[in-house]
Amino acid sequence: MRATIVLLPGDGIGPEVVDAAARVLSNVELRFGHSFTLKSWPIGADALRRGDPPLPSSTLEACLKSDAVLLGAVGDPEYNDVSREQRPETALLELRRALGTFANLRPARVWPGLESDSVVRADVIRGLDLLIVRELTGGIYFGEPRGRTDDGREAFDTMRYSTTEIERIAVVAFESARRRRKLVTSIDKANVLESSRLWREVVTRVALRFSDVRLQHQLVDSCAMLLVSNPGQFDVLLASNLFGDILSDEAGAVVGSLGLLPSASIGGKGGIFEPVHGSAPDIAGSDRANPVATIASAALLLRYALGAETEAATIETAIGEALNDGFRTADLASDGMAVTSCSQMTQAIIDRMGRNVGGH
Ligand code: NAD
Repeated sequence: MRATIVLLPGDGIGPEVVDAAARVLSNVELRFGHSFTLKSWPIGADALRRGDPPLPSSTLEACLKSDAVLLGAVGDPEYNDVSREQRPETALLELRRALGTFANLRPARVWPGLESDSVVRADVIRGLDLLIVRELTGGIYFGEPRGRTDDGREAFDTMRYSTTEIERIAVVAFESARRRRKLVTSIDKANVLESSRLWREVVTRVALRFSDVRLQHQLVDSCAMLLVSNPGQFDVLLASNLFGDILSDEAGAVVGSLGLLPSASIGGKGGIFEPVHGSAPDIAGSDRANPVATIASAALLLRYALGAETEAATIETAIGEALNDGFRTADLASDGMAVTSCSQMTQAIIDRMGRNVGGH
């Protein structure tokens, strides 16, 4: 397979974790006989420092021409007080809009050996492995009308969904479930909201095209409760923009460190694959970042943008094995445990990939 993958290291720990993921992708290339073109482009504060806007047109053009984008993080304290257009974070919204990525996928899994890192009891979350599929470009964050009344004493937003928007995100959820344990739980508030009633109707209709996948509906409030009391029952959670935003952060907190959470934004061309965490300026440049979230994002890139399931699974298995063998970056190490650096963790994962594909 040939593929062009754009790397956007960005700011803070972004370059360290993207470099880690690029090493893993080069290893996949070697072991599986693929040919990847991996090239870095500036974004965020890195671009601003070169005198460019946060998303330079050359970077955007490269992304539009690529098969997939792997992003580190953007954000730098130096640019906290600049205008909105000059903020590094603006680049992300522009990029998502330009690539038309309407589906955000956030897997949340508890790796063996890390159960005690969660705020939830180890026996409740052991083996947890779920995927949140969140609608990303519609719903209350974009619905019109929105604003304030003339006297400024009332404010309003509109939660609005079209049948087309619901259908296309539901298809992503059902197709994802097909690759997993074949259960979709659709989240809504159909007992109160009109938009949720349409959501439920459309998702039920889409389910008829996926007879091998089971569908259940869950109200968002009870889902929030079940995510901490009995999360093991879920496989794929399908949610609107607002509900998915809240539930994916809750699921992230349940599984533990930010340094472990990957994400994929897909639906348009290619896709953007990035860790959930930010640029972590407090630890940047010290080789202390946890690269797992970005390496796991590279696995999602292989799975969703390039259809390379075996390669993706090889990376994920190797991550699990490295953690199970006791490798712990600073964010995961409890008192008295040896701390693994970002580069050592990356090497530990690469070593285990070799074993999984026969050591060649
Ligand atoms: P953050 O995620 O960068 O950091 C929060 C805490 O988690 C910090 O203590 C950090 O050291 C730790 N942490 C994060 N990732 C880690 C990793 N891989 N390994 C070990 N520890 C890790 O969030 P923040 O501090 O609120 O934001 C910092 C900057 O990042 C801000 O400019 C913010 O706007 C930006 N940000 C960017 C994105 C993105 O690019 N998608 C997302 C969130 C925040």
